[in-house]
Amino acid sequence: MEITANDPNRKSWLTVAVTSDFPIQNIPFGVFLTKDDIITIGTRIGDYAIDLAALHQLGYFEGIPLTDDIFLQDTLNDFIADGRKTWRLVRNRIAEIFDENNASLKDNATHREKIIFTIDEIEMQLPVNVGDYTDFYASKEHATNVGCLFRDPENALLPNWLHIPIGYHGRSSSIIPSGTPVRRPVGQSRPAEGTNTPGFGPSKLVDFELEMAFITTRANDLGERISIEEAENYIFGLVLFNDWSARDIQAWEYVPLGPFLGKSFASTISPWIVTLDALEPFRVNNPEQVHEPLPYLKKEGKDSYDINLQVGIQPEGAEETIVCNSNFKYMYWTMAQQLAHHTVNGCPVNAGDMMGSGTISGPTKDSYGSMLELSWRGQNPLTLKDGSQRKFINDNDTVILRGYAQNESVRIGFGECTGKVLPAKE
Ligand code: CA
Repeated sequence: MEITANDPNRKSWLTVAVTSDFPIQNIPFGVFLTKDDIITIGTRIGDYAIDLAALHQLGYFEGIPLTDDIFLQDTLNDFIADGRKTWRLVRNRIAEIFDENNASLKDNATHREKIIFTIDEIEMQLPVNVGDYTDFYASKEHATNVGCLFRDPENALLPNWLHIPIGYHGRSSSIIPSGTPVRRPVGQSRPAEGTNTPGFGPSKLVDFELEMAFITTRANDLGERISIEEAENYIFGLVLFNDWSARDIQAWEYVPLGPFLGKSFASTISPWIVTLDALEPFRVNNPEQVHEPLPYLKKEGKDSYDINLQVGIQPEGAEETIVCNSNFKYMYWTMAQQLAHHTVNGCPVNAGDMMGSGTISGPTKDSYGSMLELSWRGQNPLTLKDGSQRKFINDNDTVILRGYAQNESVRIGFGECTGKVLPAKE
């Protein structure tokens, strides 16, 4: 089915700023609370939030097989479970409704009032009920840097890393939407030199991790696997993902079973899910891989996406400083490889599952996706615009992730993914 919603020449009768992340070609999906305290599924064009439940109730999706209450829900899980064909039909229809040449809604003031809100009239919610959350470790630069810092620079990249998209199962219960404050976690840390008693208290090394996460639909039954060729059919869309990390807790606990409480206190996502369909124009060649992957992970083509990523730190009452510029295309393992690997043992993937990419670090020092790497574990503190220095994230700092893809005709963005670190509760 043609993705007519991606037509770069289409304009909307809603006003959209040139620099907006949300032109009519984006049409992301999210869940919001209206000023009347109603939770609904919606989309966004420019600075307008569009109530899809109201659109559906008023007959604008006629001819598309949708249940009556599909958008009158507090999560996107059921809509995501409807599959790619339905997502495409709905996105294509929304593009038609808001096309500058279509007067049906544009000229109906009563309907417009029920359907369209300004973005400051609504409150974004978590868009999906995340059943399972997996975090990969798919940037070679990041894995090499962390290997140097936590282990041994001579053997920074472990031998399995170049053959397997390494990942672990995280906690979905602490995934929160942008804007939700993050409490500095308390936990154990490595005993000080010459002692046997671990440290305990608020983490001293709270960090961000610049990641993206993809959200799946139901892909396979228990015992079945999905091939790498069809893997992308099961990806609904992507969000920005800040996988907050407490490096001191992490360093003490992670051997032998991997990350645990140093990671599970919070992960912040951007609230609008940008569909993989909307990102279609931004495909780029897969990265060169050192070893030929095993056949189930082997696929030629353009499964990487050129998405600019940025991180800023804003201290309380001060100006923001950009500390990192990276790109989603730096990932060594593609999403298709990750999903094919995830199911190769027959583990089912469900609608609403979330897969983090792992920290996305680029080749240059200003493209590292965490403070651990940017400050090289505190050895090279960053100086912010207000003159203060940071090795890691201080209390009352706000961390802001941004991401967008852009070509000569269209910009598809994710908005912001923000979180403010609050002092620990003791
Ligand atoms: Ca991570």
